[in-house]
Amino acid sequence: MIPLAHLSDDVLVDYAAGTLPQATALLVATHLALCPDCREEVRLLEEVGGAMLAERVPEAPADHLLADCLALLDRPVTVQEQPARYCADGVYPRPLLDVLPADGLTWHKRAKGLAEIRLDTGPGPVAKLLKISAGQPMPRHTHSGREFTLVLDGSFSDDYGVYRRGDVAVATEGEIHQPIAGAERDCICLAVVEGSLSLTGPIGRVLNLFVRF
Ligand SMILES: [Zn+2]
Repeated sequence: MIPLAHLSDDVLVDYAAGTLPQATALLVATHLALCPDCREEVRLLEEVGGAMLAERVPEAPADHLLADCLALLDRPVTVQEQPARYCADGVYPRPLLDVLPADGLTWHKRAKGLAEIRLDTGPGPVAKLLKISAGQPMPRHTHSGREFTLVLDGSFSDDYGVYRRGDVAVATEGEIHQPIAGAERDCICLAVVEGSLSLTGPIGRVLNLFVRF
């Protein structure tokens, strides 16, 4: 199944340039493992970047290079079979397997119907695996930075639609939302918040005093 909700060009450019925080880069790499379209875009970006580094591209104003780059992204792409290095392994694709705890997954309950595992992605934004019980609404919340949520198993929905395996929902700073897990089975996601997260409902505002999300 090819994902329907993708990462934006600016996120893929930052990924190809190596400027994303480690947690966000992990989420992008995991999406790429599941998405031939974005993988091809990153390959093209890396090709352009490599050519520039090798001085095979003639001197040109930065605006022209950016325009060339964007034109490359707009051209139709031929989707190739998934290369072996991006092979998915069950629920957790390869880039994620590399950072999962070696001693197995221990889920920590954080709220009703919500459990998490914090991944070791060094300083900066934190990457977490979330497990949301089937049909469970998440606490209504907002955040001070971008929030990326990549579905690994099951599905969830929000105001914009339904997200399934490989899809990424990106909530911008200050956006208030309340994703709801699909009723078919528990939803497992990889989530990264580039800032702090706070709950907005009446109970959530009390929980904020005690729980660091
Ligand atoms: Zn994609």
